[in-house]
Amino acid sequence: MRKKIVAGNWKMNKNLAETKTLLLELKTKLTASQTEIIVAPTYTNLGSAVEILEDSSITVAAQNMHQAENGAYTGEISADMLKSIGVETVILGHSERRAYFGETDELLASKVNTALQHDMTIIFCFGEELEDRKKNNHFSVVENQLKKGVFHIAQENWKNVILAYEPVWAIGTGETASPEQAQEMHAFIRKTIANTFSEKVADKVSILYGGSVKPNNAEEIFANPDVDGGLIGGAALDAENFAVIANAI
Ligand code: PGA
Repeated sequence: MRKKIVAGNWKMNKNLAETKTLLLELKTKLTASQTEIIVAPTYTNLGSAVEILEDSSITVAAQNMHQAENGAYTGEISADMLKSIGVETVILGHSERRAYFGETDELLASKVNTALQHDMTIIFCFGEELEDRKKNNHFSVVENQLKKGVFHIAQENWKNVILAYEPVWAIGTGETASPEQAQEMHAFIRKTIANTFSEKVADKVSILYGGSVKPNNAEEIFANPDVDGGLIGGAALDAENFAVIANAI
């Protein structure tokens, strides 16, 4: 059985007081289930989030990290810093990092390496742009992002990898991939992993869908056999909405 996962990417939202309020609400609203719940507040609130969630099964992820161990990288955060405050999971390759901060596949490959060397779990994000889909290039774009960003890892490291397919045209736009489009792409990703690594690796890896998942569409997206959960942006900022989505699996 693959792990079912719902992760909330809070992006640059929620100050400390708001973070505490939302986490306390989540703790009361999210009833125990088989689904793994992850929240990714902003850097400055990660330590508080870990403390608040200590007695719950919700885990905390960072939204990004630097690939170097330490050094003269003003404004950056290392894997060791994250681990030292109890953060074991990191989102890498989000399309906003790629688009606004110039993160390339090559850079992401080195972030992936650093995170895995520190035995962290990565949520590796990728997905095509609208132009790619219009030109019917979406499968090759996704395959290429995976090949360059994450397919260099050793087979045994797949246990630390969660994939998140996020078509860029669906992020924050209110437009979601149809359940058929999501299933089609997730099945393609799984087949590509089976061909490159093994059936066993492909069977085990959780592939999340992200892009305008809301309480009213989560169930039909999650119902697909190759969709193992979601990476949620906007709807993760409200406890009630996030709880409905988390319970939709
Ligand atoms: P959204 O964001 O749910 O607001 O579309 C998803 C994401 O960026 O991970």
